[in-house]
Amino acid sequence: MIFDNFLSLSDEQRAIRDLARDFASREIAPKAAELDDAAKFDDSLTGKLAELGFLGMLIPEEYDGMGLDTVTYLLALEEIAFADASAAVLMSVHNSLPTQMLLRWGSDEQKDRFLRPMARGEMLGAFALSEPDAGSDAAALSTQARQDGDEWVLSGTKSWVTNGNVAQVIVAMARTDSPDDRKGGRGIGAFIVTPDLPGFGLGKKENKMGLRSSPTVQLVFDDMRVPAANLLGDPSRGFTYAMSSLDQGRLGIAAQACGIARAALQHSVAYAADRRQFGRPIRDFQAIQFKLADMASKIAAARATLYAAAAARDRGERITMYSAMAKLLSSETAMWTTTQAVQIFGGYGYVKDYPVERLFRDAKVTEIYEGTSEIQRIVVARQLYGDR
Ligand SMILES: Cc1cc2nc3c(=O)[nH]c(=O)nc-3n(C[C@H](O)[C@H](O)[C@H](O)COP(=O)(O)OP(=O)(O)OC[C@H]3O[C@@H](n4cnc5c(N)ncnc54)[C@H](O)[C@@H]3O)c2cc1C
Repeated sequence: MIFDNFLSLSDEQRAIRDLARDFASREIAPKAAELDDAAKFDDSLTGKLAELGFLGMLIPEEYDGMGLDTVTYLLALEEIAFADASAAVLMSVHNSLPTQMLLRWGSDEQKDRFLRPMARGEMLGAFALSEPDAGSDAAALSTQARQDGDEWVLSGTKSWVTNGNVAQVIVAMARTDSPDDRKGGRGIGAFIVTPDLPGFGLGKKENKMGLRSSPTVQLVFDDMRVPAANLLGDPSRGFTYAMSSLDQGRLGIAAQACGIARAALQHSVAYAADRRQFGRPIRDFQAIQFKLADMASKIAAARATLYAAAAARDRGERITMYSAMAKLLSSETAMWTTTQAVQIFGGYGYVKDYPVERLFRDAKVTEIYEGTSEIQRIVVARQLYGDR
Protein backbone atom coordinates (compact mmCIF):
# COMPACT_ATOMS: atom_id res chain seq x y z
CA MET A 1 0.00 0.00 0.00
CA ILE A 2 1.11 3.61 -0.65
CA PHE A 3 3.43 4.86 2.17
CA ASP A 4 4.00 1.36 3.64
CA ASN A 5 7.77 1.74 3.47
CA PHE A 6 7.85 5.46 4.26
CA LEU A 7 8.55 5.15 7.98
CA SER A 8 11.23 3.10 9.63
CA LEU A 9 9.26 0.60 11.70
CA SER A 10 10.17 -2.35 13.90
CA ASP A 11 8.83 -5.84 13.12
CA GLU A 12 6.36 -5.49 16.01
CA GLN A 13 5.08 -2.13 14.71
CA ARG A 14 4.56 -3.58 11.22
CA ALA A 15 2.80 -6.63 12.64
CA ILE A 16 0.36 -4.54 14.69
CA ARG A 17 -0.29 -2.17 11.79
CA ASP A 18 -1.02 -5.18 9.54
CA LEU A 19 -3.25 -6.76 12.19
CA ALA A 20 -5.26 -3.52 12.44
CA ARG A 21 -5.44 -3.20 8.64
CA ASP A 22 -6.64 -6.77 8.20
CA PHE A 23 -9.22 -6.47 10.99
CA ALA A 24 -10.48 -3.10 9.73
CA SER A 25 -10.87 -4.27 6.13
CA ARG A 26 -12.80 -7.39 7.22
CA GLU A 27 -14.87 -6.13 10.15
CA ILE A 28 -15.19 -2.36 9.86
CA ALA A 29 -15.01 -1.17 6.23
CA PRO A 30 -17.87 -3.32 4.89
CA LYS A 31 -20.35 -1.76 7.36
CA ALA A 32 -19.11 1.84 7.33
CA ALA A 33 -21.46 3.30 4.69
CA GLU A 34 -24.56 1.61 6.09
CA LEU A 35 -23.85 2.67 9.68
CA ASP A 36 -23.16 6.22 8.49
CA ASP A 37 -26.44 6.34 6.58
CA ALA A 38 -28.42 5.10 9.57
CA ALA A 39 -26.36 7.16 12.07
CA LYS A 40 -26.09 3.91 14.01
CA PHE A 41 -23.46 2.97 16.58
CA ASP A 42 -22.04 -0.52 16.02
CA ASP A 43 -22.68 -2.29 19.34
CA SER A 44 -20.22 -5.05 18.47
CA LEU A 45 -17.30 -2.67 17.86
CA THR A 46 -16.11 -2.23 21.45
CA GLY A 47 -15.98 -5.99 22.04
CA LYS A 48 -14.05 -6.61 18.83
CA LEU A 49 -11.50 -3.87 19.53
CA ALA A 50 -11.17 -5.20 23.08
CA GLU A 51 -10.41 -8.71 21.82
CA LEU A 52 -7.45 -7.33 19.87
CA GLY A 53 -6.24 -5.39 22.92
CA PHE A 54 -6.85 -2.13 21.03
CA LEU A 55 -8.60 -0.46 23.99
CA GLY A 56 -5.54 -0.79 26.20
CA MET A 57 -2.75 -0.12 23.75
CA LEU A 58 -1.02 2.61 25.79
CA ILE A 59 -1.69 1.13 29.22
CA PRO A 60 1.19 -0.81 30.80
CA GLU A 61 0.86 -4.58 31.07
CA GLU A 62 0.81 -4.31 34.89
CA TYR A 63 -2.63 -2.68 34.49
CA ASP A 64 -3.84 -5.26 31.94
CA GLY A 65 -2.95 -3.16 28.89
CA MET A 66 -0.67 -3.90 25.93
CA GLY A 67 2.06 -1.49 27.02
CA LEU A 68 2.79 -0.34 23.47
CA ASP A 69 4.50 2.85 22.34
CA THR A 70 2.67 5.81 20.84
CA VAL A 71 3.94 5.17 17.30
CA THR A 72 2.49 1.64 17.29
CA TYR A 73 -0.82 2.81 18.72
CA LEU A 74 -1.17 5.52 16.06
CA LEU A 75 -0.29 3.14 13.23
CA ALA A 76 -3.18 0.90 14.34
CA LEU A 77 -5.52 3.86 14.81
CA GLU A 78 -4.72 5.19 11.32
CA GLU A 79 -5.67 1.83 9.81
CA ILE A 80 -9.00 1.82 11.66
CA ALA A 81 -9.66 5.39 10.42
CA PHE A 82 -8.78 4.34 6.86
CA ALA A 83 -11.76 1.97 7.09
CA ASP A 84 -14.13 4.16 9.14
CA ALA A 85 -13.36 7.42 10.95
CA SER A 86 -16.30 6.88 13.33
CA ALA A 87 -14.74 3.67 14.64
CA ALA A 88 -11.39 5.44 14.99
CA VAL A 89 -12.70 8.21 17.23
CA LEU A 90 -13.97 5.65 19.73
CA MET A 91 -10.50 4.16 19.92
CA SER A 92 -8.80 7.55 20.03
CA VAL A 93 -10.87 9.11 22.83
CA HIS A 94 -10.73 5.97 25.00
CA ASN A 95 -6.99 5.37 24.60
CA SER A 96 -5.85 9.00 24.72
CA LEU A 97 -8.01 10.80 27.25
CA PRO A 98 -9.83 9.03 30.12
CA THR A 99 -7.42 6.09 30.34
CA GLN A 100 -4.34 8.34 30.20
CA MET A 101 -5.79 10.60 32.89
CA LEU A 102 -6.43 7.58 35.13
CA LEU A 103 -2.98 6.18 34.44
CA ARG A 104 -1.19 9.43 35.25
CA TRP A 105 -3.27 10.83 38.10
CA GLY A 106 -5.50 8.02 39.36
CA SER A 107 -5.02 6.43 42.79
CA ASP A 108 -4.21 2.71 43.07
CA GLU A 109 -7.82 2.09 44.01
CA GLN A 110 -9.11 4.06 40.98
CA LYS A 111 -6.72 2.15 38.73
CA ASP A 112 -8.06 -1.16 40.03
CA ARG A 113 -11.70 -0.14 39.72
CA PHE A 114 -11.57 1.68 36.41
CA LEU A 115 -8.26 1.53 34.54
CA ARG A 116 -7.88 -2.27 34.49
CA PRO A 117 -11.37 -2.98 33.12
CA MET A 118 -10.93 -0.12 30.63
CA ALA A 119 -7.62 -1.59 29.45
CA ARG A 120 -9.34 -4.95 28.95
CA GLY A 121 -12.11 -3.17 27.04
CA GLU A 122 -14.79 -4.20 29.53
CA MET A 123 -15.53 -0.54 30.26
CA LEU A 124 -15.55 2.15 27.57
CA GLY A 125 -14.29 5.63 28.45
CA ALA A 126 -15.46 9.14 27.48
CA PHE A 127 -14.16 12.65 28.16
CA ALA A 128 -16.45 15.55 29.09
CA LEU A 129 -14.78 18.95 29.01
CA SER A 130 -16.85 21.07 26.55
CA GLU A 131 -20.06 22.83 27.52
CA PRO A 132 -22.68 24.75 25.55
CA ASP A 133 -20.95 28.07 26.39
CA ALA A 134 -17.38 26.83 26.83
CA GLY A 135 -15.72 25.29 23.75
CA SER A 136 -12.39 26.79 22.68
CA ASP A 137 -12.35 28.67 25.98
CA ALA A 138 -12.79 25.47 27.96
CA ALA A 139 -11.44 27.01 31.17
CA ALA A 140 -14.64 29.10 31.26
CA LEU A 141 -16.74 25.99 31.91
CA SER A 142 -19.52 26.44 34.44
CA THR A 143 -20.53 22.97 35.68
CA GLN A 144 -20.20 23.36 39.44
CA ALA A 145 -18.89 20.78 41.90
CA ARG A 146 -19.68 21.34 45.60
CA GLN A 147 -18.28 19.16 48.36
CA ASP A 148 -20.85 17.63 50.72
CA GLY A 149 -19.32 15.27 53.28
CA ASP A 150 -17.65 12.45 51.43
CA GLU A 151 -19.46 13.24 48.21
CA TRP A 152 -19.25 15.90 45.51
CA VAL A 153 -22.46 17.30 44.08
CA LEU A 154 -22.18 18.24 40.37
CA SER A 155 -24.64 20.48 38.50
CA GLY A 156 -24.41 21.54 34.87
CA THR A 157 -24.46 20.41 31.26
CA LYS A 158 -21.55 18.91 29.32
CA SER A 159 -21.87 18.98 25.54
CA TRP A 160 -20.45 17.10 22.56
CA VAL A 161 -19.45 14.06 24.59
CA THR A 162 -18.25 11.38 22.17
CA ASN A 163 -19.69 8.03 23.33
CA GLY A 164 -21.33 9.75 26.31
CA ASN A 165 -24.38 7.49 25.97
CA VAL A 166 -22.48 4.22 25.60
CA ALA A 167 -19.49 4.74 27.92
CA GLN A 168 -19.28 3.23 31.40
CA VAL A 169 -16.64 5.69 32.63
CA ILE A 170 -16.68 9.41 31.86
CA VAL A 171 -13.96 11.74 33.08
CA ALA A 172 -15.81 15.04 33.52
CA MET A 173 -14.32 18.42 34.39
CA ALA A 174 -16.23 20.68 36.82
CA ARG A 175 -15.51 23.82 38.83
CA THR A 176 -14.33 23.23 42.37
CA ASP A 177 -13.68 26.93 43.08
CA SER A 178 -16.42 29.01 44.61
CA PRO A 179 -18.74 31.18 42.46
CA ASP A 180 -17.49 34.22 44.51
CA ASP A 181 -13.83 33.46 43.90
CA ARG A 182 -13.30 32.14 40.35
CA LYS A 183 -9.79 30.88 39.62
CA GLY A 184 -10.05 30.17 35.87
CA GLY A 185 -8.29 26.98 34.84
CA ARG A 186 -6.88 26.61 38.36
CA GLY A 187 -10.32 26.08 39.89
CA ILE A 188 -11.40 22.93 38.04
CA GLY A 189 -11.40 19.30 39.15
CA ALA A 190 -11.63 16.04 37.15
CA PHE A 191 -14.27 13.54 38.29
CA ILE A 192 -14.80 9.91 37.40
CA VAL A 193 -18.48 9.72 36.53
CA THR A 194 -20.45 6.53 35.94
CA PRO A 195 -23.95 6.53 34.43
CA ASP A 196 -25.46 4.83 37.50
CA LEU A 197 -24.80 7.87 39.74
CA PRO A 198 -27.96 9.56 41.07
CA GLY A 199 -28.57 12.75 39.08
CA PHE A 200 -26.79 11.56 35.90
CA GLY A 201 -28.88 12.18 32.77
CA LEU A 202 -28.52 12.03 29.00
CA GLY A 203 -29.42 15.15 27.01
CA LYS A 204 -29.64 15.81 23.30
CA LYS A 205 -28.04 13.41 20.82
CA GLU A 206 -26.44 15.39 18.00
CA ASN A 207 -27.49 14.79 14.38
CA LYS A 208 -24.14 15.30 12.69
CA MET A 209 -22.79 16.03 9.21
CA GLY A 210 -20.13 13.33 9.50
CA LEU A 211 -18.85 10.71 11.94
CA ARG A 212 -22.46 9.69 12.02
CA SER A 213 -21.98 6.26 13.58
CA SER A 214 -20.04 7.80 16.49
CA PRO A 215 -22.61 9.00 19.04
CA THR A 216 -22.17 12.55 20.36
CA VAL A 217 -24.44 13.56 23.26
CA GLN A 218 -25.06 16.12 25.95
CA LEU A 219 -24.80 14.98 29.56
CA VAL A 220 -26.94 16.64 32.20
CA PHE A 221 -25.74 16.55 35.80
CA ASP A 222 -28.67 17.40 38.06
CA ASP A 223 -27.22 17.59 41.56
CA MET A 224 -25.39 14.40 40.65
CA ARG A 225 -23.76 12.82 43.70
CA VAL A 226 -20.22 11.62 43.04
CA PRO A 227 -18.31 9.73 45.76
CA ALA A 228 -15.21 11.60 46.95
CA ALA A 229 -13.24 8.50 45.97
CA ASN A 230 -14.03 9.38 42.32
CA LEU A 231 -12.13 12.68 42.36
CA LEU A 232 -9.03 12.35 40.20
CA GLY A 233 -5.91 13.74 41.84
CA ASP A 234 -5.92 17.35 43.07
CA PRO A 235 -9.34 19.09 43.04
CA SER A 236 -7.87 22.24 41.49
CA ARG A 237 -5.79 20.60 38.75
CA GLY A 238 -8.38 18.86 36.58
CA PHE A 239 -8.04 21.40 33.78
CA THR A 240 -4.25 20.96 33.71
CA TYR A 241 -4.72 17.18 33.56
CA ALA A 242 -7.21 17.57 30.68
CA MET A 243 -4.92 19.92 28.71
CA SER A 244 -1.93 17.68 29.22
CA SER A 245 -3.92 14.64 28.00
CA LEU A 246 -5.01 16.58 24.93
CA ASP A 247 -1.36 16.68 23.80
CA GLN A 248 -1.72 12.93 23.37
CA GLY A 249 -5.34 13.14 22.18
CA ARG A 250 -4.42 15.46 19.33
CA LEU A 251 -2.00 12.87 17.96
CA GLY A 252 -4.94 10.45 17.82
CA ILE A 253 -7.05 12.94 15.87
CA ALA A 254 -4.09 13.56 13.54
CA ALA A 255 -3.82 9.79 12.92
CA GLN A 256 -7.56 9.67 12.27
CA ALA A 257 -7.19 12.52 9.74
CA CYS A 258 -4.26 10.79 8.01
CA GLY A 259 -6.32 7.60 7.72
CA ILE A 260 -9.19 9.53 6.11
CA ALA A 261 -6.80 11.32 3.72
CA ARG A 262 -5.08 8.09 2.71
CA ALA A 263 -8.43 6.49 1.96
CA ALA A 264 -9.40 9.47 -0.21
CA LEU A 265 -6.11 9.18 -2.12
CA GLN A 266 -6.45 5.44 -2.64
CA HIS A 267 -10.01 5.70 -3.95
CA SER A 268 -8.97 8.59 -6.22
CA VAL A 269 -6.02 6.73 -7.73
CA ALA A 270 -8.25 3.75 -8.54
CA TYR A 271 -11.10 5.86 -9.90
CA ALA A 272 -8.82 7.97 -12.10
CA ALA A 273 -7.55 4.78 -13.74
CA ASP A 274 -11.09 3.47 -14.39
CA ARG A 275 -13.01 6.57 -15.37
CA ARG A 276 -12.70 7.43 -19.06
CA GLN A 277 -13.52 10.74 -20.71
CA PHE A 278 -12.43 12.03 -24.12
CA GLY A 279 -11.48 8.46 -25.01
CA ARG A 280 -8.91 7.91 -22.27
CA PRO A 281 -8.64 7.34 -18.49
CA ILE A 282 -8.86 10.65 -16.65
CA ARG A 283 -5.51 9.91 -14.98
CA ASP A 284 -3.90 10.67 -18.35
CA PHE A 285 -4.85 14.33 -17.85
CA GLN A 286 -2.13 16.33 -16.15
CA ALA A 287 -4.73 18.26 -14.13
CA ILE A 288 -5.70 14.98 -12.42
CA GLN A 289 -2.10 13.81 -12.04
CA PHE A 290 -1.16 17.04 -10.28
CA LYS A 291 -4.06 16.69 -7.86
CA LEU A 292 -3.01 13.11 -7.03
CA ALA A 293 0.63 14.15 -6.63
CA ASP A 294 -0.30 17.04 -4.32
CA MET A 295 -2.59 14.80 -2.27
CA ALA A 296 0.16 12.21 -1.80
CA SER A 297 2.79 14.84 -0.99
CA LYS A 298 0.65 16.58 1.63
CA ILE A 299 -0.23 13.25 3.24
CA ALA A 300 3.46 12.30 3.38
CA ALA A 301 4.28 15.63 5.10
CA ALA A 302 1.43 15.29 7.61
CA ARG A 303 2.37 11.70 8.46
CA ALA A 304 6.04 12.60 8.84
CA THR A 305 5.11 15.31 11.36
CA LEU A 306 2.67 13.00 13.16
CA TYR A 307 5.07 10.12 13.62
CA ALA A 308 7.98 12.42 14.52
CA ALA A 309 5.77 13.92 17.26
CA ALA A 310 4.80 10.43 18.42
CA ALA A 311 8.43 9.34 18.53
CA ALA A 312 9.24 12.46 20.60
CA ARG A 313 6.52 11.47 23.05
CA ASP A 314 7.96 7.95 23.23
CA ARG A 315 11.32 9.50 24.14
CA GLY A 316 9.57 11.27 27.02
CA GLU A 317 9.76 14.75 25.52
CA ARG A 318 7.14 17.45 25.91
CA ILE A 319 5.11 17.50 22.69
CA THR A 320 2.62 20.36 23.13
CA MET A 321 3.87 22.20 20.02
CA TYR A 322 4.49 19.12 17.88
CA SER A 323 1.12 17.55 18.62
CA ALA A 324 -0.66 20.82 17.77
CA MET A 325 1.34 20.99 14.49
CA ALA A 326 0.55 17.36 13.70
CA LYS A 327 -3.15 17.87 14.30
CA LEU A 328 -3.24 21.12 12.32
CA LEU A 329 -1.37 19.71 9.30
CA SER A 330 -3.16 16.36 9.28
CA SER A 331 -6.68 17.74 9.66
CA GLU A 332 -6.20 20.42 7.00
CA THR A 333 -4.64 17.77 4.74
CA ALA A 334 -7.66 15.50 5.30
CA MET A 335 -10.09 18.29 4.43
CA TRP A 336 -8.11 19.40 1.37
CA THR A 337 -7.49 15.86 0.15
CA THR A 338 -11.11 14.76 0.47
CA THR A 339 -12.20 17.93 -1.36
CA GLN A 340 -9.86 17.04 -4.23
CA ALA A 341 -11.15 13.45 -4.16
CA VAL A 342 -14.75 14.62 -4.62
CA GLN A 343 -13.54 16.76 -7.55
CA ILE A 344 -11.75 13.82 -9.17
CA PHE A 345 -14.93 11.74 -8.89
CA GLY A 346 -16.96 14.58 -10.45
CA GLY A 347 -20.72 14.11 -10.04
CA TYR A 348 -20.11 10.60 -8.69
CA GLY A 349 -18.16 12.15 -5.83
CA TYR A 350 -21.20 14.06 -4.75
CA VAL A 351 -23.42 11.03 -4.12
CA LYS A 352 -23.39 8.25 -1.59
CA ASP A 353 -22.73 5.48 -4.15
CA TYR A 354 -19.00 6.16 -3.74
CA PRO A 355 -17.06 6.50 -0.47
CA VAL A 356 -15.42 9.89 -1.00
CA GLU A 357 -18.61 11.77 -0.11
CA ARG A 358 -18.49 10.23 3.40
CA LEU A 359 -14.75 10.84 3.70
CA PHE A 360 -15.32 14.52 2.86
CA ARG A 361 -17.98 14.85 5.60
CA ASP A 362 -15.90 12.89 8.13
CA ALA A 363 -12.78 14.96 7.47
CA LYS A 364 -14.34 18.25 8.54
CA VAL A 365 -14.62 17.46 12.22
CA THR A 366 -10.90 16.81 12.52
CA GLU A 367 -10.44 20.59 12.03
CA ILE A 368 -12.86 21.24 14.90
CA TYR A 369 -12.64 18.86 17.84
CA GLU A 370 -9.87 18.56 20.44
CA GLY A 371 -9.16 22.20 19.56
CA THR A 372 -10.04 23.92 16.28
CA SER A 373 -7.37 24.74 13.70
CA GLU A 374 -7.37 28.31 15.01
CA ILE A 375 -6.65 27.04 18.52
CA GLN A 376 -3.84 24.76 17.25
CA ARG A 377 -2.24 27.81 15.62
CA ILE A 378 -2.52 29.68 18.92
CA VAL A 379 -0.88 26.75 20.75
CA VAL A 380 2.00 26.68 18.25
CA ALA A 381 2.48 30.46 18.37
CA ARG A 382 2.53 30.46 22.18
CA GLN A 383 5.20 27.78 22.19
CA LEU A 384 7.24 29.86 19.74
CA TYR A 385 7.03 32.77 22.17
CA GLY A 386 8.17 30.46 24.96
CA ASP A 387 4.83 31.00 26.73
CA ARG A 388 4.16 27.64 28.32
C1 LIG B 1 -18.32 15.44 16.70
C2 LIG B 1 -17.75 16.14 17.89
C3 LIG B 1 -17.27 15.41 18.95
C4 LIG B 1 -16.75 16.03 20.09
N1 LIG B 1 -16.34 15.28 21.14
C5 LIG B 1 -16.00 15.90 22.30
C6 LIG B 1 -15.72 15.13 23.49
O1 LIG B 1 -15.75 13.89 23.48
N2 LIG B 1 -15.47 15.80 24.64
C7 LIG B 1 -15.44 17.16 24.70
O2 LIG B 1 -15.19 17.69 25.77
N3 LIG B 1 -15.66 17.92 23.60
C8 LIG B 1 -15.95 17.32 22.41
N4 LIG B 1 -16.23 18.07 21.29
C9 LIG B 1 -16.23 19.53 21.40
C10 LIG B 1 -15.12 20.20 20.62
O3 LIG B 1 -13.89 20.01 21.25
C11 LIG B 1 -15.51 21.69 20.46
O4 LIG B 1 -16.56 21.73 19.52
C12 LIG B 1 -14.34 22.55 20.01
O5 LIG B 1 -13.39 22.65 21.04
C13 LIG B 1 -14.78 23.94 19.57
O6 LIG B 1 -15.64 24.53 20.52
P1 LIG B 1 -17.02 25.20 20.05
O7 LIG B 1 -17.71 24.20 19.21
O8 LIG B 1 -17.71 25.71 21.24
O9 LIG B 1 -16.59 26.40 19.10
P2 LIG B 1 -16.19 27.89 19.58
O10 LIG B 1 -15.17 27.82 20.65
O11 LIG B 1 -17.43 28.65 19.84
O12 LIG B 1 -15.48 28.44 18.26
C14 LIG B 1 -16.21 29.01 17.17
C15 LIG B 1 -15.19 29.55 16.18
O13 LIG B 1 -14.43 30.60 16.79
C16 LIG B 1 -13.05 30.31 16.70
N5 LIG B 1 -12.34 30.83 17.88
C17 LIG B 1 -12.69 30.66 19.18
N6 LIG B 1 -11.79 31.25 19.98
C18 LIG B 1 -10.85 31.80 19.17
C19 LIG B 1 -9.65 32.54 19.39
N7 LIG B 1 -9.20 32.82 20.60
N8 LIG B 1 -8.94 32.94 18.29
C20 LIG B 1 -9.35 32.63 17.05
N9 LIG B 1 -10.48 31.94 16.77
C21 LIG B 1 -11.20 31.51 17.82
C22 LIG B 1 -12.98 28.79 16.63
O14 LIG B 1 -11.74 28.35 16.07
C23 LIG B 1 -14.16 28.50 15.74
O15 LIG B 1 -13.82 28.70 14.40
C24 LIG B 1 -16.70 17.45 20.13
C25 LIG B 1 -17.17 18.20 19.04
C26 LIG B 1 -17.68 17.57 17.93
C27 LIG B 1 -18.20 18.40 16.78
